[in-house]
Amino acid sequence: MTTVQTDTDTDSKNQTDLERGRDAELKALAEQAGRDLEDASALEILQWAVDAFGKQFCVTSSMEDAVVAHLASRARPGVDVVFLDTGYHFEETIGTRDAVEAVMDVNVITLTPRQTVAEQDAEYGPKLHDRNPDLCCALRKVKPLEAGLTKYSAWATGLRRDESPTRANTPVVGWDEKRRKVKISPIARWTQDDVDAYVTEHGVLTNPLLMDGYASVGCAPCTRRVLEGEDARAGRWAGRAKTECGLHG
Ligand code: SF4
Repeated sequence: MTTVQTDTDTDSKNQTDLERGRDAELKALAEQAGRDLEDASALEILQWAVDAFGKQFCVTSSMEDAVVAHLASRARPGVDVVFLDTGYHFEETIGTRDAVEAVMDVNVITLTPRQTVAEQDAEYGPKLHDRNPDLCCALRKVKPLEAGLTKYSAWATGLRRDESPTRANTPVVGWDEKRRKVKISPIARWTQDDVDAYVTEHGVLTNPLLMDGYASVGCAPCTRRVLEGEDARAGRWAGRAKTECGLHG
């Protein structure tokens, strides 16, 4: 397993004309693929991605489950699977990451923030997640991911349209303007039943917390079990207006 401590700030202001031209081409490619692949299977979407981008393609995983990593490894054995270790994960999440690395044909890359939790506490005060979760997510998730994705042209996520209203329009392939990458969501059209069926059929690893009342697994201080009738992401930043960490906005 590779661990990369991230410290690079990406800066779109310094784009060259060549880079702007390349981005325009990638954006057009992504938008066309989004239309062409809307009815394709998840495996077909990922096959398109690995054919189009080769080693410049990766999967990101929160280690809630390994469904997209499993699908991608069928399309391209040894595919890079990027995991953000915020320093605040449940031990079950780290255990799932380690199990994925051990049993699946993937290359797990763990990204860590520039600062440890102790260093962040020293600079910003303890429990920044309680006082300013947007800043905490920016420091521990958004910036590390942006730095970690610089070597890729395309990344895949496990976003699904049925998870929450904010994800209802997720394209299967689209353009990530913030990171200037092609963003692939191969299971965007899936339901929870589709995920469960795939997990059962292929014996895919899942985070044990999913069997313990958690429907969506994030950092421990910002995740609680969901109540009956709540949507899958209701246990994330519960009691706050915040619904996303900024990785998908
Ligand atoms: Fe910090 Fe919570 Fe965001 Fe994790 S989810 S980075 S602990 S605010």
